[in-house]
Amino acid sequence: MARNPAVLITGASSGIGATYADRFARRGHDLVLVARDKERMEALAAGLRDETGIAIDILQADLTNPGDLAAVEKRLRDDRRIGVLVNNAGAALGGSFVAQAVEDVGRLVALNTTAVVRLASAVAPRFAEAGEGAIVNISSVVGLAPEFGMSVYGATKAFVTFLSQGLSLELGPKGVYVQAVLPAATRTEIWKRAGVDVNTLPVVMDVAELVDAALVGFDRREPITIPPLHDAGQWDTYQIARQAMLPGLRQERAAARYQPSV
Ligand code: NAP
Repeated sequence: MARNPAVLITGASSGIGATYADRFARRGHDLVLVARDKERMEALAAGLRDETGIAIDILQADLTNPGDLAAVEKRLRDDRRIGVLVNNAGAALGGSFVAQAVEDVGRLVALNTTAVVRLASAVAPRFAEAGEGAIVNISSVVGLAPEFGMSVYGATKAFVTFLSQGLSLELGPKGVYVQAVLPAATRTEIWKRAGVDVNTLPVVMDVAELVDAALVGFDRREPITIPPLHDAGQWDTYQIARQAMLPGLRQERAAARYQPSV
């Protein structure tokens, strides 16, 4: 693989994905940009090509469309120049669960989970065989916090974090780096798309701050990067508490509190 592998970024037409495109271009990586809005990607690519001289391909795809998704999977399987996948495309959904239309819920799950796992699955065998490569999955702190009241969105992000942790354990020993990035509220279009005015949020991070921090975690090969979490020890404590439970989870007999009373 070349010293600077090409990077395929989904959701590269705006926000976090467009900022990753900018940063990887300035680091000298060729790019493959994926999203629905081709014109926006063309405009971003034109500026980055001029400024950095890198090569940029554009793949227009709606990742909830099985045919479009298959085309991106094929590109990841076949294009051996691609050594980094940034699984960033995602959306949120406003309103409460009972008010959300099932079609919207289905599309959200398809984009935030199915596309993420299918794209990782397309590229992982090639990376594992090569003994190198990186998969970056953009998750969210909402996946840690049902209390934040975004049940379906949070569930999709819990899926992304778990998937990343599992893949990190599976693929890490084969030389493949897997990172989950957990942003909190970040100033991008996702809020407007979900019907929320970002200016009504109490605390919002700028997208450049978020992506630059995520790249510090990437360079350190962190499995989990949570840019807004100032006390890293809190995450460590959470992991230690979870792992302490593991030996107790395999039992022949149900716990005493579940034994039927006679
Ligand atoms: P954004 O500006 O709305 O960007 C979302 C990107 O995904 C856009 O490029 C969009 O492009 C693309 N996309 C949306 N639907 C798509 C589809 N069906 N097929 C292909 N591409 C699609 O929002 P963002 O904040 O940068 O979001 C990026 C990621 O960060 C998401 O996974 C999100 O869940 C996560 N995140 C964001 C925040 C936040 O507060 N901003 C916090 C935590 C996590 P097109 O419309 O051109 O397709």
